Amino acid sequence: MLGLITTAGRRESTRIEEVPEPTGQGVLLRTIEVGVCGTDREIAEGIFGVAPAGANDLIIGHEFLGRVERDGFGFSAGDLVTATVRRSCGRCFACGEGSPDACDSGDYVERGITALDGFARELLIEDPAQLIRVPASLGRLGVLAEPASVSARAIRHALAVGGRQPWIPTRTLVLGAGAIGMLATYMLRLAGHEVWAVSRSAPESLKGRLVAASGAHYVSSAQVPIAELRDQLGGFDLVIESVGDAQIMLAVLGLLRRNGVGCLLGLDARPQQLTLPGHVVGIDAVLENRVLFGSVNAHLDDWRTAVVRLDEIRQRWPEALEAMVGLRVPPERFSEAFEYGGVKATLCFSD
Ligand SMILES: [Zn+2]
Ligand SMILES: [Zn+2]
Repeated sequence: MLGLITTAGRRESTRIEEVPEPTGQGVLLRTIEVGVCGTDREIAEGIFGVAPAGANDLIIGHEFLGRVERDGFGFSAGDLVTATVRRSCGRCFACGEGSPDACDSGDYVERGITALDGFARELLIEDPAQLIRVPASLGRLGVLAEPASVSARAIRHALAVGGRQPWIPTRTLVLGAGAIGMLATYMLRLAGHEVWAVSRSAPESLKGRLVAASGAHYVSSAQVPIAELRDQLGGFDLVIESVGDAQIMLAVLGLLRRNGVGCLLGLDARPQQLTLPGHVVGIDAVLENRVLFGSVNAHLDDWRTAVVRLDEIRQRWPEALEAMVGLRVPPERFSEAFEYGGVKATLCFSD
């Protein structure tokens, strides 16, 4: 059978190749679609990704939608499922509590990213405890479960942080309109928040139109620089950042209003010095009880929430959710998927 593999740390080594048939205990799954994102691009560029112990190659793919091949472990043949990405380090308190998303040792493994083969192959065997059922009504859009789980965790944590004191978040801001930002926008709209969403794209672009379809206000950062958003629109109770530019990430602290909470989801490894007006840290953050925090990955509960929210989004905005998966290609056309600039591209392994 075929899989999409990369030699860890070596750029331009990503290729479709014959990979071993899966063996071991667990649920046999046939891959339907695998979503790709910036993480896969970085793995393919050799700047990210770790092969399993003793191996040089890593099967990539961490955004999974598959079908159960035969009855067992409480599943029936034909069931649609997705699967978690990060797995326990086996020794820290958080992992022991079922929260590898809060792993304290850093020795976790991640499907398709860190020391554990991923989902971009025709068949695999998975631990039933790592599977999340995808309703048949959601169908192929279940491939959005992984980015949705990241958004769900971010929102859950931001509400928990803000909720440490009396707080009614109304004005929310989402920075970035990739899958994580777009799905966060839709989840916040589902929950009834007033949402502004910002990305570089023009308002008439697909991203701009998709944001507007949710009832959120779309702002192009080409027209209003992010540093000026507060002056133009006022401060925000809740900001979800999914841009991955460290200067913008720091600037979130300055976009918050009194009691505001900012959650950082992007990654930016470039060496650089960042700047922020002194009063934002020295005065505003303290006198206005502001919080800026980071969030990674997702708890199993967030995965379950993600699948429920995706189906709610589908019911309320069916065309918009469909349009989020803007490119579906066979696995051998992976480089087109990696280069796709829309919300989500996927590799299709089976029907
Ligand atoms: Zn991803
Ligand atoms: Zn751990």
